[in-house]
Amino acid sequence: MNILLSNDDGVLAPGLTALAQALSSIATVIVMAPDRNRSGASHSLTLSRPLRVCKMHNGFYSVEGTPTDCVHLALRGYLDVKIDMVISGINHGSNLGDDVIYSGTVAAAVEGRNLGLPAIAVSQVCGTDNKIEFYQTAALVIKELVIKLKKVPLPSQTILNVNVPHVPDSEIKGFEITRLGSRHAAAPIEKQKDPRGHPIYWIGPPGAEADAGPGTDFNAVIRNYVSITPLHLDMTHYTMFDDLVNLVK
Ligand code: MN
Repeated sequence: MNILLSNDDGVLAPGLTALAQALSSIATVIVMAPDRNRSGASHSLTLSRPLRVCKMHNGFYSVEGTPTDCVHLALRGYLDVKIDMVISGINHGSNLGDDVIYSGTVAAAVEGRNLGLPAIAVSQVCGTDNKIEFYQTAALVIKELVIKLKKVPLPSQTILNVNVPHVPDSEIKGFEITRLGSRHAAAPIEKQKDPRGHPIYWIGPPGAEADAGPGTDFNAVIRNYVSITPLHLDMTHYTMFDDLVNLVK
């Protein structure tokens, strides 16, 4: 099995290395990732300039582009091996509920799906002070999942969004299949001044959980379950059809 691995935290991120190491014992792993942290890049493609690729000493490919660029490049002509699955992560921090819209981690998996492959996005929930003490739990979880998927493959064009609680492997209670919860609106922007007195603005952190009840991804990780949310990309709001048909009559 050939796995394409990418992320949005950049090619030097410890979560990427941990996952590459864990998966290399069960599959051939090819890593192509952004040259720097592109968290929040969502599904952006670089169209205004060409992309450069650098092969690093550890064999990872570093790309001067977004997570989506990496997967697109790899699957649309850069690699001459057939890829069977795309995995993105391990992200530093959860991607729960509305986060999946902004996430570059999820976007890299979505690009794999768009190009016809099954794909997994994996995120490690942070511990206190947004720190992550270990990636080993998430690495083992994904290894276990890939071993299962070797026996019962995911249908192509399926995306799994996986979030792993910040506990040692022995404290994980199991897997829970979940739906996306949701967050309150993000904190307000923060206005500061640069050293020359000009105003600058920081985007605020994500809002606290709003819909985090039973069955949601938020709820699973709080209870030390690995959350697996199957995602699909049809954003059509079907229940609005009748209202809109009447509106435009
Ligand atoms: Mn990230």
